[in-house]
Amino acid sequence: MKNLIKDSVRSIVPYSPNKNSYKIRLDANENPFNMLAEMHDEIVGVIGEMEMNRYPDTDSFCLRQDLAKYVGLKQENIICGNGSDEIIQVIIQTFVDKGDFVVTHVPTFSMYNIFTKIAGGEMIEVPSEEDFTVDVEKIIDTANQSKAKVIFLCNPNNPTGTTMSSKDILEVLQRTESMVVVDEAYYEFFGETMVSYVNDWDRLIVLRTLSKAFGLADIRLGYGVAGEDTIEILNRVRPPYNLSTFSQAMGSLALRNVDRVENYIQSIKAERIYMLNALQEEKEIIAFPSEGNFVLVKSDKLKEIADSCYEKEIGTRIFRNDSMLQNCMRISIGTRSENDCMIETIRKVVG
Ligand code: PMP
Repeated sequence: MKNLIKDSVRSIVPYSPNKNSYKIRLDANENPFNMLAEMHDEIVGVIGEMEMNRYPDTDSFCLRQDLAKYVGLKQENIICGNGSDEIIQVIIQTFVDKGDFVVTHVPTFSMYNIFTKIAGGEMIEVPSEEDFTVDVEKIIDTANQSKAKVIFLCNPNNPTGTTMSSKDILEVLQRTESMVVVDEAYYEFFGETMVSYVNDWDRLIVLRTLSKAFGLADIRLGYGVAGEDTIEILNRVRPPYNLSTFSQAMGSLALRNVDRVENYIQSIKAERIYMLNALQEEKEIIAFPSEGNFVLVKSDKLKEIADSCYEKEIGTRIFRNDSMLQNCMRISIGTRSENDCMIETIRKVVG
């Protein structure tokens, strides 16, 4: 079998999320709030009406209408995916052939690189500054020199929490000829978006997800926002029936209860300030400002902090194989008691 594997897949290291079961889960940028606990009866009611012997609506029509209302555009501007991961893959399959280049800033979300490699493309990684600010000029130069098919900009960036301004993103669009994908998975914790530009630029695709602010990581629902022509092209590559009726229905239900989601967002943003203030008081640790639902910290004592977290059964994300993230740990924002537990664990090591 091994001799049959295509070359581009031979060297792939699969995405490997934490598989340990922790008491406190601050490792995957999930939302600590669970909608099911609050909307149990409505959710059970929706499930009761489903016909699971039938295929789902292949175009997720109702859901796309609800998403269009949420983003302030038309349903023709929306494509839905089994998580935004699937839309990343669809974009790469649409635009990247063997030998083509894709550009992104690093450190960033690893799936851009993995899907590019699988497609036989080559990822060029532009290092960000020491404080993790994206080097916009270098991104533009690199994309132009390599005639990159796609540029990925993660805004706010996972795992650093840093952001790019709309002005900088427009500059990338104006001064390159590549598709520009702006991954706004953490948009709701930041508040700035590029969706209002998609009808002006057919090379712009904005990615969003219901996995973070909406607290629906398990239903696997991501979406892309782009001009109508761009969505039509992406739909040629999207697998049929890619979203179950369950995911579509849960997504619509959540979108009709955005006030609930607004409460989650406010709470997480307040806790982010609380966590950052507490950690920035400590001398032996740097806590980077963040616009996501997570903070990145760096410390020479990271190994001791990680060991303490392990003992206390707190899950966090440590980037062992990333040279730009040496001694760094990403901590997702949880509830007040979870955050206090994390802060206390760090203080015991560095305090
Ligand atoms: N983009 C970014 C920046 C992410 O951090 C994640 C998840 N960690 C995703 C996309 C994928 O999200 P999902 O597939 O759950 O929509």
